[in-house]
Amino acid sequence: MKEVSNESFIDMQSAAAILQTEQNFRDDFNSKRNLPENLESLDRIGWNYFWSWSADAAQLFREIDSRLWEQCEQNPRVFLKNVSGLRLWQMANDHEYVEKLHCFNSKFENYLSQPPNVIGRISSKQPIAYFCAEYGVHNSLPIYSGGLGILAGDHLKSASDMNIPLVAIGLIYRFGYFRQKIAHDGWQEEKYLDSFAGELALKPVLDENGERIFVMVHMRGREVFAQAWLAKIGRISLYLLDTNLEKNEEVDRLITGHLYGGTAETRVVQEKVLGIGGVRLLRRLKIEPSVYHLNEGHSAFLTLELAREFLEQNEAENFSDAVKVVRQKCVFTTHTPVAAGNDTFAPELIEACFDENFVNALKISKEELLGLGRTNPENKTEWFGMTPLAIRLTRSANGVSEKHGEVSRQLWLKMFPEKTSSTEVPISFVTNGVHAPTWIAPGFQKLYEKNIGADWTEILKDETKWRDSIEKISDAEIWKTHKLLKHLLISFIRQRVYSAQTGLHDTINENEDTRTLFDADVLTIGFARRIAAYKRWNLLMTDLERLLKLVDDAERPVQFVFAGKAHPQDRTAKELLQNLMTLGNTSNWQKRAVFIEDYDQEVARYLVQGVDVWLNVPRRPLEASGTSGQKVAMNGGLNLSILDGWWIEGYNGENGFSIGTPDDEESADEKTVDAEDAESLYQILEEVVVRDYYEKNADGLPWKWIRRMKSALVTLTPQFSSDRMLKDYLEKIYI
Ligand SMILES: *Cc1c(COP(=O)(O)O)cnc(C)c1O
Repeated sequence: MKEVSNESFIDMQSAAAILQTEQNFRDDFNSKRNLPENLESLDRIGWNYFWSWSADAAQLFREIDSRLWEQCEQNPRVFLKNVSGLRLWQMANDHEYVEKLHCFNSKFENYLSQPPNVIGRISSKQPIAYFCAEYGVHNSLPIYSGGLGILAGDHLKSASDMNIPLVAIGLIYRFGYFRQKIAHDGWQEEKYLDSFAGELALKPVLDENGERIFVMVHMRGREVFAQAWLAKIGRISLYLLDTNLEKNEEVDRLITGHLYGGTAETRVVQEKVLGIGGVRLLRRLKIEPSVYHLNEGHSAFLTLELAREFLEQNEAENFSDAVKVVRQKCVFTTHTPVAAGNDTFAPELIEACFDENFVNALKISKEELLGLGRTNPENKTEWFGMTPLAIRLTRSANGVSEKHGEVSRQLWLKMFPEKTSSTEVPISFVTNGVHAPTWIAPGFQKLYEKNIGADWTEILKDETKWRDSIEKISDAEIWKTHKLLKHLLISFIRQRVYSAQTGLHDTINENEDTRTLFDADVLTIGFARRIAAYKRWNLLMTDLERLLKLVDDAERPVQFVFAGKAHPQDRTAKELLQNLMTLGNTSNWQKRAVFIEDYDQEVARYLVQGVDVWLNVPRRPLEASGTSGQKVAMNGGLNLSILDGWWIEGYNGENGFSIGTPDDEESADEKTVDAEDAESLYQILEEVVVRDYYEKNADGLPWKWIRRMKSALVTLTPQFSSDRMLKDYLEKIYI
């Protein structure tokens, strides 16, 4: 659990002031704690995020000082800096511990020493270059906001495990994404933390002479410099660009200040640093990618830089020749199913942000440049969209589930006037997946090791073998493993609420006694996601009486845990959250429903591993994929979800529950659909979910429920792992 004092929070204005007064910016990045000789590998382990998806490795740090480990957001660098000498020498004298450390370190070194695979044209000389605006690798590297970032992090981890040659490019946000606090009246407040105040496992990127590498990108009428940091994600290198340099103007130092902060202009210049700066960095590093993967449109300017490069080297050619070459090298993944979810910028803004030299080098006019980002290039009033640009300049575009592929083809049909039907639009799909070793609880991993073998992640790749292996595990063992995780979740909830009440955070969750909050025998439903209109947070509250009846039931009650952030400018979302926080004073609601502040990867892990049921009620077809439900399924939790995104592909009638009917969509109006879905939700809860959960056999086990859990583990774990996703990308997209 993160314990951050109020003083360390910063608002946007003070961020600028911090940079201004800063003098010796991060000259301590190589500081090294003197460790006892037989513990020295701890330092090396801490420099590579590989430890974060190995349950044994996290344990190696926690065992030294569990309290400190939690206090410093499970950041090995900060931890080793602060841990007491006495604890270190105690561990150095503990032979069993030293042996475990040695054992993990050998595994780690062996992992790193394997040469990367060669797959077609993809090799370590010509890797895949993966571009994304955010990466959710681990909580201690706070440069992500939600689903997109976590997906990118999981992509890198699977690429590492599968030893696929891939380099990743992103931005380091000094102040990260906003942290959420809920005030006494239930209103969301946003604060930022200075990420570099602590130590991140990032090394400066240097040239052959040990000098820092810089790239320059022209913006705001001047050259802006960016340096780079390297994060090691197992075998994968993640390069993060950073404009926070003294030689930049003060405002430019903040370009990489906040993730999704600032104005539209900030977004454009950020995206220029990512796309254009990213390609220039690869050149400085002498990396010649065989394919560029634009994960979401934020990095689409990279296609323009590739075209500029080509024309610089081939003076006789024109822009359309360049486009042919660029398209061959680039692939694009779109992540939203609504037009409004795609970045678009006013034409004047794009004109202001691209200097004449750059446009001239492309051998096109400003108007032609603007046309590249329009669905209809002739429409002078249309804004510049990153998605049209990406679709035009890549050889492959894909959505993130089968349904989302279909929706995207309809959405972008207008870009292809010669096509008569959306089925002809060249947008395919690769369904998202999640990284099993990151998301499967250590308890289940141990259960698999014991029952299946140390190579269970390999067995996972063979659906038949995996099925046989899971079926063999006894009901009692599955249930025991789940119950342990549920107890862990409940104690996490109690501690979070308690620390919120005792001043570390202040919040509205003012239950009289946190120790009676939640009960491990009660059916527990989790609902954690962004507070956006289409996610329909209020669907559950449609009929309060009916909801509270479920919660208050004497024999078969239900409890709810919520988490999620509202966009800082979204008042409607904040009001919705406030309503939820002030609900149901006369019932058990206060004891059986909690809101956990500041949903992030760590909170997510407790939730997805410990709940019985994961609720998801998006308005169809607006959930592109969704991945949190996949994490739940891998831990034996059951999804209770609208048939949308990944769940259309995952649901089989037994491995979870579906809300509503799949075919009544598009035509009906929102109000009708919402009412029908709410009715269906209550009905399934009352008649199926509660019934199956509380029906016990002679051994006291909920046998029907466990059968469903096993079905989820058997069918959903292999299908929705990011290893399967990477395999699909290799076969369908990259090669
Ligand atoms: C997995 C995850 C998400 C994405 O979940 P959705 O199902 O797309 O809502 C968002 N935030 C965090 C912290 C996650 O771990």
